[in-house]
Amino acid sequence: MARRVRPRLDREVLRLRQVALDAAAAGLFVFPVKAGSKIPAFHGETRCRGRGPCAEGHQGWEQRATRDPAQIRRWWSNSTRWNVGIACGPSGLVVIDLDTRTEPLPDWDGATTGREVLDQLAAQHGETLPDTYSVRTPTDGEHAYYRMPDGLELRNTQGGHGHSLGPLVDTRAIGGFVVGAGSIRPEGAYLVAEHGQIAELPTWLATLLTPPPAPRPQGPPTKGLSTTRANAYIAAIQADELDKVEHAAEGRRQVTLLNAARVFGQLVGGGELDADNAYAVLLDAAAAHIGVAGFTRAEAERTVTRGMTFGIRAPRTIARGRATDSATDSATDDQ
Ligand SMILES: [Zn+2]
Repeated sequence: MARRVRPRLDREVLRLRQVALDAAAAGLFVFPVKAGSKIPAFHGETRCRGRGPCAEGHQGWEQRATRDPAQIRRWWSNSTRWNVGIACGPSGLVVIDLDTRTEPLPDWDGATTGREVLDQLAAQHGETLPDTYSVRTPTDGEHAYYRMPDGLELRNTQGGHGHSLGPLVDTRAIGGFVVGAGSIRPEGAYLVAEHGQIAELPTWLATLLTPPPAPRPQGPPTKGLSTTRANAYIAAIQADELDKVEHAAEGRRQVTLLNAARVFGQLVGGGELDADNAYAVLLDAAAAHIGVAGFTRAEAERTVTRGMTFGIRAPRTIARGRATDSATDSATDDQ
């Protein structure tokens, strides 16, 4: 009489199961992704029939992603070689997804990779990127993993749109997932490129990825400077920045212009300055450098745009009006 033997699991399924278990043990929330692809294995909301786990409402991959080893073993227990999806939101991750292209990007010194764009962005802000765990994708892209800073709820961004960091640079956060190292596609494998800890998302990147706040409601005047003094104060800030730009030394021209554009951008964001006017006076101040030692008008325009974009996300208002008992808004009016 033949003994009933449980079919042995395919080695590859066992390997992928271990990838999923390891990721979960490291604190990440995983779910199955279709074999050889980057498409979640679960049905989408539009095809939901309200059965099984969806009996009380549709449960997508973000809801179903887990760190529970028993659930992971159940998912990777038949002959299907599911890839391993990592749900960024539940895992508290912001993954920077760096793509590549063949055509150089003229606005980014001919960059052809998201990594180059990100490095340039860091340099422009006088920042560096901490070492962090990262994964090489089968298409020569890179996923740099960062921890979401406490209190932030960043969502996905797409290169070149909205609050994105730049072309070829997407981010996956709440509402997003990545395919984890050890997964396979016909083009190749997802491989760990940089071992080690997942670093916290640097503040400057978190700032760039934070959508600007909704416009401030027009309330009663708050404690602060008189309108005349406030206007004089704003004028002084502008004059000071423009002076720095005009007299910047050769090696400091771009960074000085970027900083000035940031300050102007903050005032534009706070409704203190008109954006077009700010742009024009900044370019005017930079004009002295254009054509000198390789500084081009395109470079000046690019720098002003980037600095202002950055500044607008951190709006600055100069409190003005008669004294009231609300002192909160005057906090921005510091020395
Ligand atoms: Zn469903």
